[in-house]
Amino acid sequence: MSFQYHMPVRVIAGADCVWENGALFAPFGARALIVTGRSSAKNGALDDVAAVLRRNGQAFAVYDRVEANPSVATVRECAALARSFGADFIVAAGGGSPMDAAKAVALCARQEVGDIFTHPIGGDVLPMIHIPTTAGTGSEVTQYSVLTDDAAQTKRSIAAPQLFPRLAFLDGKYMATLPQSVTVNTALDALSHAVEGMLSVRAGAFSDALARESLRLLGGEFPALCAGEYAAEDRQTLLQAAALAGMVIANTGTTPVHGMGYSLTYFRGVPHGRANGLLLPAFLEACARRIPQRVREICGAFGADLGEFARRVDVLLGARERCTEAELRDYAARAAKNRNVENCAVRFSEEDLLDVMRRSLGD
Ligand code: NAP
Ligand code: FE
Repeated sequence: MSFQYHMPVRVIAGADCVWENGALFAPFGARALIVTGRSSAKNGALDDVAAVLRRNGQAFAVYDRVEANPSVATVRECAALARSFGADFIVAAGGGSPMDAAKAVALCARQEVGDIFTHPIGGDVLPMIHIPTTAGTGSEVTQYSVLTDDAAQTKRSIAAPQLFPRLAFLDGKYMATLPQSVTVNTALDALSHAVEGMLSVRAGAFSDALARESLRLLGGEFPALCAGEYAAEDRQTLLQAAALAGMVIANTGTTPVHGMGYSLTYFRGVPHGRANGLLLPAFLEACARRIPQRVREICGAFGADLGEFARRVDVLLGARERCTEAELRDYAARAAKNRNVENCAVRFSEEDLLDVMRRSLGD
């Protein structure tokens, strides 16, 4: 079977890796814009980045107003700061929201961008260093930036090889303050990436190897996720499992789980990873009817069979959100138009998607 694999991000992992490798920031330029949310001021990430930049004699400005599910307006405001400050590079510290916003800022700071969702992304973007403080999206190793598109009433991604960060630091210590709900939701996002990557038409030997390892690590962390108690090693393992799953989707893309989940986030405010988790068991059950061996392999890598996989996800989710039949029909119709339907090894019709949504969220 032929396949392609590409991963241009230099990844450095381990306790205090930002401080210990601070010299690597120096070649990026004289002026940095730090793109972040509110929590990085409390979890140590902002302090570490600022200390490194000061030690290197690099000037910096901070934009700390990135919201969850970032808007295009936020990207434009932040890009204006990047321009007025004369930033040579961007340091993103935070969850998927600040990391994704930073990628779009890197683009808009350098190019005249009209409609960001249709803009042809050329080569000129600010170079980026990413420091995740959640363990879920893997955005630090992907070329995707997921933004809220209010005109289309959904979340949409922009993607280009130029949007890969150059450098990513994985230090689980920044997650010591992460609330249990965000820890679980983001772990479900990573789980979904690993599973969806193995169900992609673009899955290959290398992405499968990374996905299986991510699933193995996530399966091993299931007891900690249930208990809500994490040693430093658990945090680091979750972070690395999420990055591995990010490397998977960087190569395979996602499937209709993400397509369906976007409506739950946009219309119902369900956090991204939780939205995927809500849909994943019924989606896998539908896939198992068509490609049972592949689904056995996926669940096996997680240390479970399909029933146990679904039970574990259910335990992590707790009480499920419910949607009306009208909502489900609307969301299924929207998901059917998303191009990740064509990216799945099992072809889901709109009716199939509706069936998954009913089983996951129906009254
Ligand atoms: P998030 O929206 O970045 O963060 C969720 C919440 O956790 C925020 O309130 C955030 O606060 C807080 N938080 C972050 N780190 C924390 C820490 N260490 N301690 C305490 N609180 C912390 O959530 P996410 O799940 O990481 O990212 C979701 C976004 O990523 C979605 O927009 C999704 O579509 C996107 N995504 C992107 C990719 C990709 O490949 N690019 C893949 C999957 C998902 P502050 O932000 O205020 O600090
Ligand atoms: Fe995701």
